[in-house]
Amino acid sequence: MKTIGLLGGMSWQSTQSYYQLINEGVKARLGGLNSAKVVLHSVNFAEIEALQRMEDWQTCAEILGQAAAGLERAGAQCIVICTNTMHKVVPQIMPYVSLPIIHVADVVAQSLRAQGIERTALLGTRFTMAEPFYAEHLSKYGLEVIVPNEDEQQMVDSIIYQELCLGQINPFSKQQYLTLVNALHERGAEAVILGCTEIGLLIKQQDCKLMLFDTTLIHAQAAVNFACET
Ligand code: GLU
Repeated sequence: MKTIGLLGGMSWQSTQSYYQLINEGVKARLGGLNSAKVVLHSVNFAEIEALQRMEDWQTCAEILGQAAAGLERAGAQCIVICTNTMHKVVPQIMPYVSLPIIHVADVVAQSLRAQGIERTALLGTRFTMAEPFYAEHLSKYGLEVIVPNEDEQQMVDSIIYQELCLGQINPFSKQQYLTLVNALHERGAEAVILGCTEIGLLIKQQDCKLMLFDTTLIHAQAAVNFACET
């Protein structure tokens, strides 16, 4: 089995989901007492969030690049960045490592295409929804991406940073998200990407009819596949 390098702490609420899902995935494949070989570098999210707010992506990339290099020295054989937003700086992280980075948008796009989806809505932080880096990556797979309007983006973003990343699950916020999912369906979305690793803590497939693609579940499964395949 190969060793997975997790770049986590963004936030730790979702990194613990990755850790659990990856171990469950390895157990499901190999059985018994098998568990995942994992090296984790967990950052202080307060530092990263402050840099995001200042749009200091260069410093973010240096912090994450050095952390990724440390994972490689510690024996990791791939890098999994446990946040969608920080995939914005993947091109700047790549020179720090010689390992493959399992890109969340690649594995999510493949999963949507495997289900025959062509037009998808995207929920995530304001960076993920409003900037081109994520949607453009998805469009390489022929996906058309619908994002919420400005007010809706603000609602989605503030619930992520002010509640979910702090471990708060609020039933009113859940209702707001589900109302938005319905609206996106009416606007033509055939599916919704939960493009932030904490959103799956708030809404789940059983809460709505429209197909949800939870990036945390899909990304963790891709890491398991990488680790278990020879
Ligand atoms: N975990 C979130 C994501 O998937 C947001 C936290 C961050 O800004 O990194 O985008």
